[in-house]
Amino acid sequence: METARTKSPTRTRALATEAVHAGRDDLAGQGLHVPPIDLSTTYPSADSRAEAARIDAFATTGAEPDGPPVYARLGNPTVARFETALARLEGTETAVAFASGMAALSAVLLVRASLGLRHVVAVRPLYGCSDHLLTAGLLGSEVTWTDPAGIAEALRPDTGCVLVESPANPTLAEVDLRAVAHACGSVPLMVDNTFATPVLQRPAEHGARLVLHSATKYLGGHGDVLAGVVACDEEFAGRLRQVRFATGGVLHPLAGYLLLRGLATLPVRVRAASRTAAELARRLAADPRVERVHYPAIGGAMVAFEVHGDPHAVIGGVRLVTPAVSLGSVDSLIQHPASISHRIVDAEDRRGAGVSDRLLRLSVGLEDVDDLWADLDGALG
Ligand SMILES: *Cc1c(COP(=O)(O)O)cnc(C)c1O
Repeated sequence: METARTKSPTRTRALATEAVHAGRDDLAGQGLHVPPIDLSTTYPSADSRAEAARIDAFATTGAEPDGPPVYARLGNPTVARFETALARLEGTETAVAFASGMAALSAVLLVRASLGLRHVVAVRPLYGCSDHLLTAGLLGSEVTWTDPAGIAEALRPDTGCVLVESPANPTLAEVDLRAVAHACGSVPLMVDNTFATPVLQRPAEHGARLVLHSATKYLGGHGDVLAGVVACDEEFAGRLRQVRFATGGVLHPLAGYLLLRGLATLPVRVRAASRTAAELARRLAADPRVERVHYPAIGGAMVAFEVHGDPHAVIGGVRLVTPAVSLGSVDSLIQHPASISHRIVDAEDRRGAGVSDRLLRLSVGLEDVDDLWADLDGALG
């Protein structure tokens, strides 16, 4: 059972408690039970000297302005609640939210590039679009792909960060985060924790400086919010806020509200879906129509499997499971990475990263395990 505890002003609280209370500490004092949604794009201030000082302070450190945010691109109180809560769950000083997971990753790369640190060391597989962003050099970065054992050797004086996913999208390959953090030395390690969530793994405890999430997935958890977030120390967060302010990849307050609501049930959802996923992985592994099953040692609600037959027939055959990209929702989704989530990665690179053309990626939701198995059994033909 999860026993991770985080420090609060009074005493340490368990993850399940933080999930429902973090980011809401001030509500009762305001006579509120549910967080308000602040949709303001601007904030009145009759004292423009004070406003100037607040803007200067933000430009210097990226620290959140005291008092109201000046303008919504600088910050938003509803989004800040989600950031506070996610930081508590990940065990970091703070977190910075973005319009999507890709906007969050882009902001990290831009922060480092602005310091002349354009080189990135990364381990495949990564989510297809993360791979593409680095490989295509869309933000002027240059990538060296390596395996975890090659990280130390791949570092250069201009290396801005090291990026790994664990469990990785879509093969669920796992990385020894402590060993990788050690290999990084003083170069920031960024761990994409989208698949594990802080319920199963807290990379900051293993030495990651940056914990990245596509919050679109488990943190939102209901398939209705696009969002990203980086959990990190206050110093890095300041730079991320400055990039977010200058480039505009902000999260909408309504999305911030939905994410905070999603966090409340995150531990319950992840544990329930993981139990079902482990059982489906067991049944798939015992099935002669399935060549190979990938299921992480740390658990989780994602299962990947390679079929002997046509993977497209499985996608066309499901009735209860939705054939769709994305993951981490209350309902189960299945997709064919070589056709969709990792289509944008060069076929040879994709296969080299272990993403077989016969691989299917299943995101297990909260349905009954026997109903899901009956659907998969029918789709496998
Ligand atoms: C989906 C995903 C992303 C990208 O997030 P968006 O919210 O779609 O921009 C990044 N990393 C992983 C592991 C993902 O699954």
